[in-house]
Amino acid sequence: MTTPTAAEIEGAIRNVPDFPKPGIQFKDITPLLADARLFAGAVDLLTGKFQPGAVDAVVGIDARGFIFAAAAAVKLRASLVPIRKKGKLPYRTIEQDYALEYGTATIAMHVDALKPGARVLLLDDLLATGGTAAAAAALIRKLGAQILEIAFLIELKFLKGREKLNGYPVRSIIAY
Ligand code: AMP
Repeated sequence: MTTPTAAEIEGAIRNVPDFPKPGIQFKDITPLLADARLFAGAVDLLTGKFQPGAVDAVVGIDARGFIFAAAAAVKLRASLVPIRKKGKLPYRTIEQDYALEYGTATIAMHVDALKPGARVLLLDDLLATGGTAAAAAALIRKLGAQILEIAFLIELKFLKGREKLNGYPVRSIIAY
């Protein structure tokens, strides 16, 4: 299978207007996931320069981040760590609040999810305002792990999410 281009991946992302609320254009990745070659290619592009053994853990963000993080972890022979919305993880957690357009949200990670010094690749499907990824990065740092890179399939550049991820290497496959 040849590696797809970023343009091919972009062609498989469906824009759904006014979801989940008026004014939001939702980037639907399910047509991409439904295409075996494009899904595999997206995982290859997300793992980028990393080879098996270079990363100790792939951390995925609830919920679409899990899809890519799980595949990347298997490819890189790394462990998989989920960051979930508050109240979903069963064991003891550390939590981080972050600002939403209206109000705040909280994400959580198990206290024993990462060893100090662990080399982490943090993945999510989409970078919008950057609040979610910045909170995820803060959780990873609280456990003493090191973030090698934060990678997204999609970046909405006009929302300037990268500014919240200052100091971390950030990469996206396609940008709008
Ligand atoms: P943010 O914290 O603003 O960077 O939002 C990022 C999170 O919200 C990611 O986990 C995305 O899955 C989700 N998200 C935000 N905006 C969109 C969008 N337009 N389409 C799909 N998912 C989105």
